Amino acid sequence: MARINDNGMVVLKERYLFRHEETGISESPEEMFRRVANSVALAELNFGDENQNLAWAEKFFKIMDELLFLPNSPTLMNAGTPNQQLSACFVLPVEDNTEAIFSCLKTAALIQKSGGGTGFDFSKIRPKGDNVANGGKAAGPVAFMKIFDVMTENIRQSGKRRGANMGVLHINHPDVEEFVNSKSTGKNLQNFNISVGVTDAFMHAIKHDSSWDLIHPNTGKKVKELSARSLWQSIIRNAKNNGDPGLLFLDEINRWNPTPKIGIISCTNPCGEVPLLPYEACNLGSINLAKMVASPYKKTVKIKWDLLENTVNTAIRFLDNVIDVNTYIIPEVEQITKGNRKIGLGVMGWADMLIELGIPYASDEAVALAEKLMRFIKDRAWQTSQNLAKTRGVFPNWEKSTHFPDFPLRNATCTAIAPTGSISIIAGVSSSIEPLFALAYEQRNVLDKRSLKHINFSLIEYLKANSIYTEEILNCINARGNLKESNGLPKETKELFRTALEINFSDHLKHQLAFQMYTDNAISKTINLSSSASKYDIDKAFKMAWSGKAKGITLYRDGSKSKQVLNSGIGF
Ligand code: ADP
Repeated sequence: MARINDNGMVVLKERYLFRHEETGISESPEEMFRRVANSVALAELNFGDENQNLAWAEKFFKIMDELLFLPNSPTLMNAGTPNQQLSACFVLPVEDNTEAIFSCLKTAALIQKSGGGTGFDFSKIRPKGDNVANGGKAAGPVAFMKIFDVMTENIRQSGKRRGANMGVLHINHPDVEEFVNSKSTGKNLQNFNISVGVTDAFMHAIKHDSSWDLIHPNTGKKVKELSARSLWQSIIRNAKNNGDPGLLFLDEINRWNPTPKIGIISCTNPCGEVPLLPYEACNLGSINLAKMVASPYKKTVKIKWDLLENTVNTAIRFLDNVIDVNTYIIPEVEQITKGNRKIGLGVMGWADMLIELGIPYASDEAVALAEKLMRFIKDRAWQTSQNLAKTRGVFPNWEKSTHFPDFPLRNATCTAIAPTGSISIIAGVSSSIEPLFALAYEQRNVLDKRSLKHINFSLIEYLKANSIYTEEILNCINARGNLKESNGLPKETKELFRTALEINFSDHLKHQLAFQMYTDNAISKTINLSSSASKYDIDKAFKMAWSGKAKGITLYRDGSKSKQVLNSGIGF
């Protein structure tokens, strides 16, 4: 039976457990996992006999119930209910005419209502002040983004949480300066993450201090010329002051686009882990690495590679099934999603796993293990996808893909590393590949009104296993959220429990780059910087991400938003 901690139960009760309309009685976590497993296993009936279906339903149930793997929130919430929309990630095209823009707005509203997040590239919209057919002047992309923002503000997902958006603008769009500054007051576009779509050419222009042309999206003509470095400085200033914009490295993304003949990628989902074509959707799931360790905190500790392999195999089959039992908001989404069959298996509990293994996050050993581990996951994921292709067929666009002819896969992509914001709370582990944010912290806005208090489980287990658990240490952790100033602890312990803000940004990035090497899609990672970080640090981090072959980067300087979601220390 799933052992879910208090915070996990709060989140499940508020948002995930299905409530019977008449009796008001909701399901238990086990019943939720059964509901999801049975629904997802129905896809087996398309390919096998009934026994297969039941056998896989049991395996799917087990990996969730043992908290070895959890699918993204919409699958957990919706599978087997009247709202069978199971994907977390969507990208919708925005064309340069009123009808198309508002049709896109409507589709986005339906997606958000059903639990999905939407990404938009606004680069096709003509610039502000440009002529429009009736003799008026165009509002420009940023004005339209505000309309999408208001829509999101007012659409609640099944009445429970607000949606999320990614807004992208290409670095050569005439309104790029307005876009870069669009969140500078801290008031606008609250429901958007924004990223500038930068190219290798732009990065070279910064290096050579050359001029940069802004191009009209419809005519292809140069509208304005400015200094690449001054535009870069304005991106850096905004990223420093309020965490936005992030960057998307469009050329790197398209070097890995598995279906360039179907389309060019210019956008990602809201948190950045899945670059998608227009109308494409992707469903995600994450393996709980904290559960993949035998004899944690002991000298005999080791990774359970067999369990990891089995979990990857079952999880990939699960995610492939989701595509077939899913319902799709509009036919365009169904067509391309089923044409490429992208799925995104990732991880959570990475920081906890490292602590269980006794490896500090900010170490070469941790980065080397990140690479080895993700290589293992990717390898097994692709093997499973190939095996599925043998019985179920390759994804329909395979012959037009870069996988042709060497890799007959069932899925154009298999891996992506999501933030696991909610599912890591359900599993009771550290999120995604992030270091511990703090050893004790308060998380606001999780459920809109309430806040959750977290204290790291691996810390308590570690202190007990090493017989150094005392009231005094616990008080210090509660008050400060870190061990920096607690007396009498061995140096190794302090090293092991360094938290996000005690870890240098380049160590944060090294983890992102190591995981990215073996991740088909992208990685959602926050590169934390201390409040004293300079523009020079941000310049360095951005350039390191680009030269290290990241697909994008999101920074957050401590204290740069007045309403920070996570705050160190709680004083229970
Ligand atoms: P979860 O833990 O809830 O499964 P993640 O934090 O891993 O979700 O986010 C994965 C993706 O789910 C995001 O990149 C985004 O596409 C989507 N998503 C997350 N939160 C929201 C939200 N509040 N509204 C809409 N989509 C969301």
